[in-house]
Amino acid sequence: MADTLTLLEQVEAPWKADLRGHFASASGIPPYEAVRRQFDRAADLMGLDSDVRKILSTTMNEIVVHFPVRLDDGHVAMFTGYRVQHNNALGPFKGGLRYHASLELDEVRALAAWMTWKTAIARIPFGGAKGGVQFDPSRYSRAELERITRRFCYALGQNIGPEYDIPAPDVNTNAQIMAWILDTYLSTMSPHDRQRGMHVVTGKPVESGGSLGREKATGQGIVFLIQRWAKEAGLDLACATFLVQGYGNVGSWAARLLARSGAKLIAVEDVTGAIRDPDGIDTEQLAEHVGRHGGVAGFAPGVDHETFLSTHADIFIPAAMANQITAATAPLLDVTLVAEGANGPTDPDGDTVLARRGIHVIPDILCNSGGVIVSYFEWLQNKQGDYWELEEVDRKLQAKITAAYDRVRDMAQRRNVDWRTAAYIVALSHLEAVYKERGIFP
Ligand code: NAD
Repeated sequence: MADTLTLLEQVEAPWKADLRGHFASASGIPPYEAVRRQFDRAADLMGLDSDVRKILSTTMNEIVVHFPVRLDDGHVAMFTGYRVQHNNALGPFKGGLRYHASLELDEVRALAAWMTWKTAIARIPFGGAKGGVQFDPSRYSRAELERITRRFCYALGQNIGPEYDIPAPDVNTNAQIMAWILDTYLSTMSPHDRQRGMHVVTGKPVESGGSLGREKATGQGIVFLIQRWAKEAGLDLACATFLVQGYGNVGSWAARLLARSGAKLIAVEDVTGAIRDPDGIDTEQLAEHVGRHGGVAGFAPGVDHETFLSTHADIFIPAAMANQITAATAPLLDVTLVAEGANGPTDPDGDTVLARRGIHVIPDILCNSGGVIVSYFEWLQNKQGDYWELEEVDRKLQAKITAAYDRVRDMAQRRNVDWRTAAYIVALSHLEAVYKERGIFP
């Protein structure tokens, strides 16, 4: 691990961001337990078919791999990687890869299940999966990260594939990681088949077959939904204020795009700390600062975690890790809307507090689906060998994600339930219909 800091200067900010350890520590209900409770609540309310319920309440495949990688100092270290495939009734498994020191199997199960619901709500022909490697990437050089990524891909072998299971970026992974996976996967294919493997990952660099608009897609989707919600709630975004937790891919794009509506970012928190400025924080300059320094700390006056969470604003966008809004922290929030960019930022106890306090939530499985929607567009473009203009990608994203929003809003009104439960009912009804049509083999 020699020269870690020097080499870290050459790679993108997220690697560096974890250097100082977690700022906002997560407690609350473990994510897979949260999924079970959310699932059970919706399944009970809608009277989900008992056979379909059994199928969807468990994962299909759980792959755990242990693999060796030679480090820069010559030693070999062992790494543990995961890929959990929750369900593929609607199409190939789909979901991101996360690099994080605290990643473990139960969390990956939760993240995989959320992907199944997300793709069903968005009506895209993918199933749900998630994976990653349990390690802190900020402690490794760029060359080590490349070897860890390639060896992880090799260890997964035929458990991923362009028509079977398609990874994408998530926390601490990005387009560069996807390019290494693509190259490794193609290198292990027969030369005759190589051109048929381009869509084994999405979120690739544009030059390597990625889609225009994929990098910003999750943030863009969040902003399309906030705009729709604001219109219906009568909130003028030009006069609105917002908070963001996490200034990586999702948080920084959501902030920059929302700021273009005139809304003012007044506080941000990431792994390096929290900053606040009631006069407004320049979202573009902050992104440059994070690129240079690895985090938001130092850009504006610092505040502690509780002060950040209790800042009065119209909108809060959690875009970092799970379990940030819990029974302990939900009472602190002083906002009208929580637009969930992260996966699982609110646990079921946090949900109860938000509902009691009348704080509206656009749930993760709807709110952050812009990423997987544009991943689907990338996959289609790779298969067709035909690449779309950015305007076309954005237009199609807006159409798909707002249709999903309308489905969830209408379900919430029809059943008089909160939006997370409504989103689950939309997803489970779709999957139930598919299972009933096809039956259970044999
Ligand atoms: P990223 O690695 O680009 O950024 C993560 C951000 O979270 C960084 O700013 C980091 O400093 C911050 N962070 C990490 N731990 C923190 C903590 N304990 N307290 C405060 N801040 C912390 O990751 P990303 O791709 O932006 O993903 C963020 C969230 O969005 C994750 O929950 C991910 O699953 C979800 N998500 C991502 C995508 C995508 O397309 N990348 C799509 C859907 C959902």
